[in-house]
Amino acid sequence: MDQPVQYIKGVGPKKAALFEKLGVKSIRDLLFHFPMRYEDRSQVMKIAQVEVGQLVTLIAHVRSSAAKPRGRRGGGVFEAAFADDTGFLRATWFNVSGKAMEARFKPDTEWIVSGRVEINRYSGAKTIYHPDTEKYDGDGSLGAMGRITPVYPATEGLTQKSIRAATLAAMDHAQTLEDFVPEAMNKRYRLPLLADAVRQVHWPAAGVGMDDLELARTREQKKLIFNEFFLAQSGLALKRKGRSPQRSGAAMDAGPELIGKIKALFPFALTRAQDRALAQIAGDMSDGKRPMIRLLQGDVGCGKTVIALAAALIATRNKKQAAIMAPTEILAAQTHRKISAFLKDTNVGVALLTSASKDRSKTLDQIRDGSAHIVLGTHALIQEGVEFADLGVAVIDEQHRFGVAQRAELMRKGDSPHTLIMTATPIPRTLAMTLYGDLDVSTIDELPPGRTPVHTRMYNKASRAQALAMVRDQAREGGQAYIVYPLVEESEKLELKAAKVMFDHLKEADLAGLKLGLVHGKLKSSEKEKVMAGFVSGQLDVLVSTTVIEVGVDVPNASVMMIEHAERFGLSQLHQLRGRVGRGTRESHCLLMADTFPGSPAWDRLKVMEKTNDGFAIAEADLAIRGSGDFFGQRQSGFPEFRIGQILRDHKILAEARKAAFDLVEKDPQLSRPEHAPLLRAIFKWWNERFSLGSVG
Ligand code: ADP
Ligand code: MG
Repeated sequence: MDQPVQYIKGVGPKKAALFEKLGVKSIRDLLFHFPMRYEDRSQVMKIAQVEVGQLVTLIAHVRSSAAKPRGRRGGGVFEAAFADDTGFLRATWFNVSGKAMEARFKPDTEWIVSGRVEINRYSGAKTIYHPDTEKYDGDGSLGAMGRITPVYPATEGLTQKSIRAATLAAMDHAQTLEDFVPEAMNKRYRLPLLADAVRQVHWPAAGVGMDDLELARTREQKKLIFNEFFLAQSGLALKRKGRSPQRSGAAMDAGPELIGKIKALFPFALTRAQDRALAQIAGDMSDGKRPMIRLLQGDVGCGKTVIALAAALIATRNKKQAAIMAPTEILAAQTHRKISAFLKDTNVGVALLTSASKDRSKTLDQIRDGSAHIVLGTHALIQEGVEFADLGVAVIDEQHRFGVAQRAELMRKGDSPHTLIMTATPIPRTLAMTLYGDLDVSTIDELPPGRTPVHTRMYNKASRAQALAMVRDQAREGGQAYIVYPLVEESEKLELKAAKVMFDHLKEADLAGLKLGLVHGKLKSSEKEKVMAGFVSGQLDVLVSTTVIEVGVDVPNASVMMIEHAERFGLSQLHQLRGRVGRGTRESHCLLMADTFPGSPAWDRLKVMEKTNDGFAIAEADLAIRGSGDFFGQRQSGFPEFRIGQILRDHKILAEARKAAFDLVEKDPQLSRPEHAPLLRAIFKWWNERFSLGSVG
């Protein structure tokens, strides 16, 4: 099974090298190189029946053939007329050696011919261009042809025909595949044997419906999808279980009285969704069974920071410290300001640690001696030399900006502290299950009252002037505007230049008379702070920003968000940007600038933004359009990609596999029973190929 694919008949060193490009090294890999779609060649037809546009399979003999020396495309052209007892059909090949073709398609030899029927533009004759052909040996056996035929992911130089021949030859080996799904579970979920499933998914038996195959609804497809999800979920279940025995997480007091006192610090009542999230967090922090590892997700502005503060206060009231790590200095400083304001009448010590901190050594001392109760900061928090007296809870804001390693670093600053991970990129449930399957998830799906909905509209070159007029009008009425310019990472320098040129142009021409500020990633942090402060205080009318990161600010007076090249952003990113306006009482607008036109994919995609303000609906659409691999853009590396399972299409199987995996690990927490040995082995292999087991979550 683990032998190189070269052991398969017909696969030599050259083909083996090409297979390797597809990720197929061993025979096992080949068995798991599944078709991406199928063609129905099961109906063998008579030539008289065929119609233009049809995909047909025929049994016919060569009536005549002719090699033409030079076709329009330069290479040789070969034409053959195939016949059966009902008529003739032409076949044409371009770019072939006439000699070789003549030797192959000798008159009267019998063939199985398959392909799509087209009309020759010159002669009007029904023709199949580049048909798949196989010698017919007359015994009625149709080999790889007269059946539902797989179409595989291929690569240059490796034809469908070679891949099909290889998988067909490999089918004998399927029998020896070891199934890591325990037999009892296979029975319970009425799943077929693994070997049968593999064989059927490559080469479906006669009578299987094409519709079922295309939608992955056959029993055999389900089995393979289940296996894939089950393996990933078992890994997550095991990992989660593995945390509990050795690390029990401090049991803190988080009773109703304490929670009531904490809530009294806020000048508003929590929303129902916030209350629910806080209750879940309080439960985690007080149960003493294992450290909290909870993902808190919700739209920008839904009030996550407030909940993070509540979690921090649970810790401080239990004589422990809290750390809140944000991805940028601006965000860390802003959170620091907000939290300090909430706590101004208390004696909770709040400190800010960033690489720009002035009194760094003093702050480090306070963190070390425990007089800094709540510490806000950036990556600076996880650097060496930062020592906490007793870290009780670690909060990570905008988690997708941090790598898993950085998250782990922060957790290591304490003795298995409770951990709260926050994200404003709502993650569809299905995706959360695969990505964060070992985390508990709280969702805030409600905005605080009094928000004004944001009007969203698309603009193009022709209507650009209208958009800029909107910016001017809003500024005249006392509002403020963001203009965001996307930076593409590879060409940051060029893009930055373009942004600066645009900034100057706006200042001189379109927005002359308004006060504009520019922030970008290359600016020194002191300068950045200065510009930001100007915008926050209302001195600046317009903030031009080159990156998403810099606009993570809360300015209730801002009423316009104009996004240049909106088509370059993911929908979830756009939604996050839009969340920066509509935070105060002003009616707010989101202007999406994009050179698209009705009917183009980019247009349709951006239209979603006009239609809904619901972050989860947008995330679902984003996921459906871009696929899970791209959902977070390039930042999210190591996302588990599946070979056959698709989390959106197969979400029911995912839920089933998840339950099966978690139930199993509940009963056998170490997977130490002999019947679970294959599963344990497979988990380690699977996770090691994707990320190291120790660092997930
Ligand atoms: P997030 O971190 O989810 O983007 P924040 O916690 O920063 O959201 O909250 C956004 C704004 O809403 C802040 O000014 C905050 O003080 C305010 N806020 C939070 N919760 C409530 C609430 N329940 N009622 C009214 N205002 C709230
Ligand atoms: Mg926040």
